Amino acid sequence: MQRIAQVLVNIPTKSINKAFSYIIPVHLDFIDIGWRVIVPFGNRKLEGFIIGVTDEEDVSHFDLKPILDRLDDTVWFDDHMMQTARWISEYYVCNLVDAMRLFIPGKSGVKSVTTYRIADHVVIESMIASLLKKSSEYSQVLMYIHKHQPVMIGKLEKEFGPGALKIVNYLARKQVIIGEAVAKKTAMHRYKNVVRLSVTQEVGASLLESFTRKPAQCRLLTYLLAHRELPYDDFAQHNISYDAVKKLVQAGVVSIAKVQSIRDSYADICAPGVQVSLTADQQQVLGAIIPTMQAREYHSFLLHGITGSGKTQVYIEAVAVARANQRQAIVLVPEIALTSQIVARFKARFCDDVVVMHSKLSTGERYDAWQRLRTKQAGIVIGARSAVFSPLPDLGIIIMDEEHEFTYKQEEAPRYHTRQVALTRARLAGGIVIMGSATPSVETYYQALQSEHTLLTMAKRIAGALLPEVTVVDMREELRQKRRSVISLPLLELLAETLERKEQAIILLNRRGYATFVMCRECGHIIRCQHCDISLVYHAVGNLLRCHYCQTVEKTPDICPKCSSRYIRFFGTGTQKLEENLAKSFPGIRIVRMDQDTTGGKMAYDRILDAFAKGEHDVLLGTQMVAKGHDVKNVTAVGIIAADSILNLPDFRAAERVFALLTQAAGRAGRGDKAGKVVVQTYNPEHYAVQAGANHDYTAFYQAEIGFRKELCYPPYGQILKLTTQADEEGKARSQADKIIKKLKSMLQHNDTIEVIGPFPAPIAKIKDVFRMNIVIKAVNIIEVKSYLVDMGLTTRPDVIIDVDPISIM
Ligand code: ADP
Ligand code: ZN
Ligand code: ZN
Repeated sequence: MQRIAQVLVNIPTKSINKAFSYIIPVHLDFIDIGWRVIVPFGNRKLEGFIIGVTDEEDVSHFDLKPILDRLDDTVWFDDHMMQTARWISEYYVCNLVDAMRLFIPGKSGVKSVTTYRIADHVVIESMIASLLKKSSEYSQVLMYIHKHQPVMIGKLEKEFGPGALKIVNYLARKQVIIGEAVAKKTAMHRYKNVVRLSVTQEVGASLLESFTRKPAQCRLLTYLLAHRELPYDDFAQHNISYDAVKKLVQAGVVSIAKVQSIRDSYADICAPGVQVSLTADQQQVLGAIIPTMQAREYHSFLLHGITGSGKTQVYIEAVAVARANQRQAIVLVPEIALTSQIVARFKARFCDDVVVMHSKLSTGERYDAWQRLRTKQAGIVIGARSAVFSPLPDLGIIIMDEEHEFTYKQEEAPRYHTRQVALTRARLAGGIVIMGSATPSVETYYQALQSEHTLLTMAKRIAGALLPEVTVVDMREELRQKRRSVISLPLLELLAETLERKEQAIILLNRRGYATFVMCRECGHIIRCQHCDISLVYHAVGNLLRCHYCQTVEKTPDICPKCSSRYIRFFGTGTQKLEENLAKSFPGIRIVRMDQDTTGGKMAYDRILDAFAKGEHDVLLGTQMVAKGHDVKNVTAVGIIAADSILNLPDFRAAERVFALLTQAAGRAGRGDKAGKVVVQTYNPEHYAVQAGANHDYTAFYQAEIGFRKELCYPPYGQILKLTTQADEEGKARSQADKIIKKLKSMLQHNDTIEVIGPFPAPIAKIKDVFRMNIVIKAVNIIEVKSYLVDMGLTTRPDVIIDVDPISIM
């Protein structure tokens, strides 16, 4: 009997969509489905995931290689993770290995590197002698390999410079040396040294007296009696010297140990919180949630609570109940910009039981965080969408804050939606899901009305705080009054009042940069990116033009590249220019800008928000990230500039986006005991999304929107699947799309509930020199379509993107 493993090799090649068989060697007999292993693949050694194991009588007639090693000490993919991955691969029609990769830290747990050694037949002395005739460098490289073998190329390059590669290739070609692949595990544990008592507490205490004349040793002993251990890194902080440690080691009182060091960049934010007594609304909502948790059965809730109604507190209480039952929790937030306040509140309540995860963590930090959750050292993970894949042995609750946010949809393969994954995982684990929002997505709200989720409502702000008063300013009217500034008169007045009262304001403008585009007034030429079909954006800093899609940077020309005229002008307003305008209108105003240009580093969002919350700035100005999630009591004014520009996009979710953005941005104002005011500048004052947003009226918005969705059979009434063809020439992308459409239409002839629309060029037809054509498939039930896509071989084609339930159809 021989155990054979079916292994998916972790490589991002879309066309390889099958498992390979490997022998499980005797020394690895304990490994099974779900283990991560290292396998030989071609001439490399790669990470693989075991997805099946069989027993074979006789394998001598197969040419099978053995698994080389395991990556972890335990199984990585538990049963629920495997099932979730399979579900993702079926629902989103992607390769299983791509779905499984979502569950590991980093892209791969293995790095394949080549090492070199001298070939067996080579007589080294004579070889060196003959190489010496060619060049001394060649013989030196060979000598080095002989002495240090096996040697990695990096080592040789360090020793001999970049020319080493050429020499190594030559020697390998002549079969003097042999290159062999080895696998290096990437996410290794990190260790740190700590000092510990090596005697019992009582003995330690009794010894204390005998050290009174040696203050340094006394300090260390006193510390260890109180805290058990002290990391080397903290010596300075506690005024401990290595010498004192050495003396106590010699005396046999303390010892030095190596322990696994857990990397945690949020380790410092743990402040004790204040206990709050829950409001009637919060109690009623929790009264519905908690009994379902005791039952250990799947249940989903939509918590529709207006901004500032105390949803976060509900999340905390629900998680506390889960923890009291020894079950683990995932808390999802839409983007890292929003994590800092919610993290602070969870840390205040749960301290070290919380781990924070987001895509900007290093692979090592992520690995450590997962290790703590897997081993139940921690019970709560907070993070952006990837946190939904955390390895929790006993998942009891998933919170999804701001469930309507589009960032929950991954825009690269696999194109999953976090909500769907969360519901699937909770169902498998017998846990609950709480989706919270002030502006629930139309689909989720519809499902709640259909009783797919339990709808819970909180309609009042905490402590009687009022929703802000909203003024809608018609910008066409402003223009008729000969006011051309981007800041309308009502907004100027509101800002003046606010600054006067020493309160703070937030201004939202959905465009970064100084001006949105650069145009020649003579010939109308607009300066565009050479690689993307989009205009470049002027940035005053450095006088540069930037492409916001491919990061190309160019110097701003003095004359028009087309007609050589000098009349190059900047049009539109970006955040940088707005900042300048405000500074002119309000001398001495302290403005902080938050957009992608100012938030490069890992913690930059947090720093900006923190400084703003402390009152170090009067105005927070930025793109949509200023609109969300945070709670600053002194903000009483919000200005929204051109939020409705989205309405001009040909997309069925445009109205939903505008409504959510207006409501969320307005929701930042008046969260304390001071009333708030909001000015919305728009060119579409009569649009239902703007009207309902200004009136804080979700129901009015929902009713208008759902009617429109029904009429056109958009979600939730129909499902959408978007296909995109990509090619380096426009014609190729189009002809591929045409072929697919023709085939699909003939296959779907019999079915009039499926509609194929297109092809049409993507709104930005070219990005990074790749042309893109879209096909939209609308269906009452999309399952049939998916099976056709598989039959047509589209799922493994690298030039075709399949997006199930796309966020936008553009
Ligand atoms: P939401 O998440 O719905 O926007 P939050 O949970 O952030 O609302 O609550 C808004 C504010 O009210 C926060 O400052 C929070 O600390 C406070 N708060 C929440 N619940 C209570 C309560 N029961 N008693 C007093 N203050 C509360
Ligand atoms: Zn570009
Ligand atoms: Zn010109």
